[in-house]
Amino acid sequence: MTLPEHGRSTEDLLAEIARLKEADLPVRGGKVTAYVYDTGRPEVHEAAARGYFEMLEVNSLDPTAFPSIVEMEKQVVGAVAELLGGGHGIFTSGGTESIMLAVKAARDAAATRAPEMVVPVTAHPAFHKAAHYLGVKVVAVPVDLETYRVEPSAVEAAITGDTVLVVVSAPSYPQGVVDPVERVAAICAERGVLCHVDACVGGWLLPWLREAGARVPAFDLSVPGVTSISCDLHKFGYAPKGASVVLFRDPALRRKAYFASAAWPGYTIINATVQSSRSAGPLGGAWATMQALGRDGYVELGRRSLEAARRLREGIGAIDGLRVLGEPDSTLVAFGSTEVDVFVLADEARKLGWFLQPQLSYAGIPANIHITVTGATLAGVEAMLEVIAQSAEAARKRGPATLPDGLIDLIAGLDLDALDDATFAELAASVGVDLTSQAQPEMAVVNAVLDGLPADKREAVLLRFLSVIYS
Ligand SMILES: *Cc1c(COP(=O)(O)O)cnc(C)c1O
Repeated sequence: MTLPEHGRSTEDLLAEIARLKEADLPVRGGKVTAYVYDTGRPEVHEAAARGYFEMLEVNSLDPTAFPSIVEMEKQVVGAVAELLGGGHGIFTSGGTESIMLAVKAARDAAATRAPEMVVPVTAHPAFHKAAHYLGVKVVAVPVDLETYRVEPSAVEAAITGDTVLVVVSAPSYPQGVVDPVERVAAICAERGVLCHVDACVGGWLLPWLREAGARVPAFDLSVPGVTSISCDLHKFGYAPKGASVVLFRDPALRRKAYFASAAWPGYTIINATVQSSRSAGPLGGAWATMQALGRDGYVELGRRSLEAARRLREGIGAIDGLRVLGEPDSTLVAFGSTEVDVFVLADEARKLGWFLQPQLSYAGIPANIHITVTGATLAGVEAMLEVIAQSAEAARKRGPATLPDGLIDLIAGLDLDALDDATFAELAASVGVDLTSQAQPEMAVVNAVLDGLPADKREAVLLRFLSVIYS
């Protein structure tokens, strides 16, 4: 786009936005099983949009200039603290920022010059990102390959004098299982190490599932030894994107997440988050969503999600060749297959208008499909099962994605930095992947290539892919 010479009418702009969004996945209706969280209640999303809009131009940079922010943030963070065992919080832009702040606080609270962090292989990459940005070394620990939960003994063995933080998930995203929080936190307390619970996806879900009758293990700040917890409101809080909370047991630890600077001749900087100038829109959106749903709204959504997840697990288990991985403690469901190519299955589902999220094999966990069950899923759960069954059958008939002999080794051996974007796009085209087309891509080949590569090569290819789509 180039800047238009003359300003355009709002109507004109809205029409263009509608056109730009034509190829997007739908954010409502339950046919997209990741990225979006739908209550199935339009009036709630309407309230959120209005709240967001009202706060849009308020700048969270300076809370003394806009006291509305302080009051709203106290209410939102307070509600999360009430649900998750207390603590002192910060409203952030998302799980990644909450995690960044938890890792920063842990790093700055410790005396070591060579900080390390113990992270289960199923933990979210936001910890790797925080480690990368903040100069902390990740010590990865495996999970049990039946339950997908981290082994407390493996965590204990990984702790050293330089460990500044131990991470557990409630639940971990890939298989939706809760790590043994109580046992790991007890080890941390004994060893004098901080323990962060990543409840980004589960913090505003598990308590409602528990109220709806699910068995949910203790996972929050009420557990001795847990020192911080992250909880995204833009997931099962159903708030518009840009909303998460990180809670610290101790206000002194929260202060380690803050940043202040007086080292320039401009306005003084006090930041609770990574961002400085930022819209209070997401705060207004989260506040409005929580107020519009209320406790009984969340319990009801929890009940519906739980019911949908149960039917989905049973239904998938009954489809020939498919099996649910582990026993999810949440409403995240992953399934794999030793008989059909799950990446082909996902492509087949896409043809039927459904997005199912592929997950690559990693650390002994097979390739699989992830489904995030939300409040809107129940209404269409039988249709979803029908699509999965049909797609599995079609994938069985088509057989697995095939790659030219030697392709994986060729890519693994490439020095990607030596290729320019155009050459990379040509390489992709040679295996049938058109990076320049807007059309719905067949992803099975791409996923098969990625799945065949080690993680560092996957990352190099993904970065290059991003660079090409923005070229
Ligand atoms: C989504 C998620 C994150 C990261 O959150 P973003 O909001 O995407 O930055 C971290 N941990 C878990 C378990 C998640 O599900």
